[in-house]
Amino acid sequence: MKKKIFLSLCCLFTYHLYAQDSASAPIQNNEESLKQLPVLWMQTAAEYRALCYQAFNTAQWRLEKLLRKKKRRQHWAVITDLDETILDNSYEEAKRIKANKDYSNADFNNWVNRSAATEVPGASKFLQWVHEKGISVFYISNRDTSQVKPTLINLQKLQLPDTDTSHMLFLSNTSSKEARRQNVMGRYNVVMLLGDNLNDFTYLFEKKDIPTRKEEVDSVREDWGKKFIVLPNSTYGEWENALYDYNRKLTPQQKDAKRKTLLKDY
Ligand SMILES: [Mg+2]
Repeated sequence: MKKKIFLSLCCLFTYHLYAQDSASAPIQNNEESLKQLPVLWMQTAAEYRALCYQAFNTAQWRLEKLLRKKKRRQHWAVITDLDETILDNSYEEAKRIKANKDYSNADFNNWVNRSAATEVPGASKFLQWVHEKGISVFYISNRDTSQVKPTLINLQKLQLPDTDTSHMLFLSNTSSKEARRQNVMGRYNVVMLLGDNLNDFTYLFEKKDIPTRKEEVDSVREDWGKKFIVLPNSTYGEWENALYDYNRKLTPQQKDAKRKTLLKDY
């Protein structure tokens, strides 16, 4: 009997401690905490995985069709973005959410130096297939040129093709990728571009407001799923900058107000 009472008291004490701990845990209210659900969607939703396979399957079908008309002497290339198109960096974001920290270049650099990103589902199989078909792959990324080496190691771990510095065009002086795309287009027939951000495809989308971004997407409607292959990314991107009119100095309160203004209800 005494033993029973002792065990009950122990359970009660443990529950009390747990309840106290949960109640006193700080509620995250920084900008980064807003990303819990989008990050969880990319890490846990099988729907995200299916969308990635859908994108790479579409890309392969399109190239198979184009290859039937390819002439021997033509040099073809595919241009792809890296982050959240080929490489999954959600771990870095998840770590910051848990630590209640906002994004910092230093934290992202630490992550890049680990060369530990996994592939976006279907990416390596697709790019290996592209390579087998004799099509060159160029990686145009806004990772900094100082991050080429750890990124190269990461890509090699994932057994991706064309993993050498001549195929990696990283950020040096401008975040616009247009000049780097033109560099490749001047030497190759670029038959496809892949990205998670509209700026991965053409300069037409750069620094545009929300209605104009949509209009520009509509203006090249026929290219989606053909020349342009989009990967889903709910956690960050140019769409997020457009929410705030590209103003990086807004306070969290101002950002919150802006988001509420943009939410369409009935
Ligand atoms: Mg990206």
